[in-house]
Amino acid sequence: MESKKELLDFNFDNSFSHNLEDFFVSCSSEPSSSPQLLQLNRKLAKELGLNPDLLDSEEGLDIFSGNDLPAGSDPLAQAYSGHQFGGFSPLLGDGRALLLGEVIDSNNQRRDIQLKGSGRTPFSRGGDGKSALGPVLREYLISEHMHVLGIPTTRALAAVATGDQVNRDTLLPGGILTRVAASHIRVGTFQFGTALGEIEKIKKITDYSISRHYPEATNSDNPYLTFFECVSNAQALLVARWMSVGFIHGVMNTDNMTITGETIDYGPCAFMDSYFPGTVFSSIDTQGRYAYSNQPSVLSWNLTRLAETLVPLVDDNQEQAVALLTTAINNIHPLYQGHWLAQMRPKIGLTTEDILDEELINDLLSIMEEGQADFTLVFRRLSEVLKGNADPIKELFKDPQSCDAWLVRWQERLAREGNTKDLTIKMMNKVNPIYIARNHKVEEVLSAAVNQNDVKPFLDFLLVLERPFDEVKGNEAYASPGPVSDIPYKTFCGT
Ligand code: AMP
Ligand code: MG
Repeated sequence: MESKKELLDFNFDNSFSHNLEDFFVSCSSEPSSSPQLLQLNRKLAKELGLNPDLLDSEEGLDIFSGNDLPAGSDPLAQAYSGHQFGGFSPLLGDGRALLLGEVIDSNNQRRDIQLKGSGRTPFSRGGDGKSALGPVLREYLISEHMHVLGIPTTRALAAVATGDQVNRDTLLPGGILTRVAASHIRVGTFQFGTALGEIEKIKKITDYSISRHYPEATNSDNPYLTFFECVSNAQALLVARWMSVGFIHGVMNTDNMTITGETIDYGPCAFMDSYFPGTVFSSIDTQGRYAYSNQPSVLSWNLTRLAETLVPLVDDNQEQAVALLTTAINNIHPLYQGHWLAQMRPKIGLTTEDILDEELINDLLSIMEEGQADFTLVFRRLSEVLKGNADPIKELFKDPQSCDAWLVRWQERLAREGNTKDLTIKMMNKVNPIYIARNHKVEEVLSAAVNQNDVKPFLDFLLVLERPFDEVKGNEAYASPGPVSDIPYKTFCGT
């Protein structure tokens, strides 16, 4: 009979390690002393063609804790460069992550499986290659939440407490996240390709990326330009989706922007409570470079860095290549704006397009800013207005009367839609979550898990966030904004 370990076959089909020798260093994980599986994503495991019952075992834990490498894996740390807060670092790379390999999932999609926090790699520099447990659980919770909200993201397959301690000013319990991504190729991977100094190398990573993620680009007149347009579109849609739920990524460095347009690296990210465009949560973002309202312009800035790497491929004539890419760069903002409108219209119940919609939405945002109204609840409670009760939304504004005129204008616009109120309510409640990963709740459940060894609040919160659009009696505490505090909420990079 086959042992459990033999049965636990990931069926790896590794292409990165076989094709891109200049873009990684092979390495291994460090062992964990007494690991414990805190959470396994059984649904995702199935999607990946893995057997969750087999994974939920000593053998599975050995893999998720870095104590044993699964058969067929080619463990490696990827190399990449990156602009961090505007300054260029030619060599970053996976300093605390280890790509185990790729699997073909049940939808025939190639997915990376990676350990995050499994120890030092050749790119660790001064770091220990480890993760504290808090950030591991945070990434698990928020990335899975984003997925349910319909926002492209890396996924979380498992969270493990290693039983070891990591030193972050104080000693903290360590953890490892098993992360799943369409790939981990970022804008910074291309910057690294350019830094290698040979056109062949940047061509190699681009050709690989096209065939893995945007094969349709191959049929265009200029596949490399089309590739850039595809990445721009995916990232523009992503940022529009973030904006539509009040999400602030917090560290939009070029090494944290995937070319697939999946959200990656949930270090200092957070959802805002009351609407303020300049909101920044990250403790290290002192200049507000990655503030909520700056995200669309950072999108263009980062994509311009990608465009620079593609110049030698887009046309033999450099001037012509720059002209073509500049046109594409100039198109990013309108592209983003189109995606943003397409996200925002249904939030206020619109199914048709009117030239004045953008102004209508922006006017709502202005009164929300003025009235310090809660972003999530304002949109959610619009449906209450249609049920005949405007009080719940009005009480969100410092001056409850301040939204009256807008509500009248909005309902006049809705009347021209011709949809029934019931239908509009249903549609709005499908896109406006009632439960989001509110900062005070996130802190509460992480603190219980890390400081009191109690993962139940974390697991309960995960369950609530599995159905963010369906109001559930008894879950009111999850829907309310946190207590007002004089001290601004701060987040920290997940190291
Ligand atoms: P991040 O800000 O999380 O995107 O990480 C930026 C860079 O720092 C990446 O190259 C990471 O691999 C590296 N890094 C972050 N934390 C650690 C750590 N604990 N040990 C080694 N490298 C790290
Ligand atoms: Mg990163």
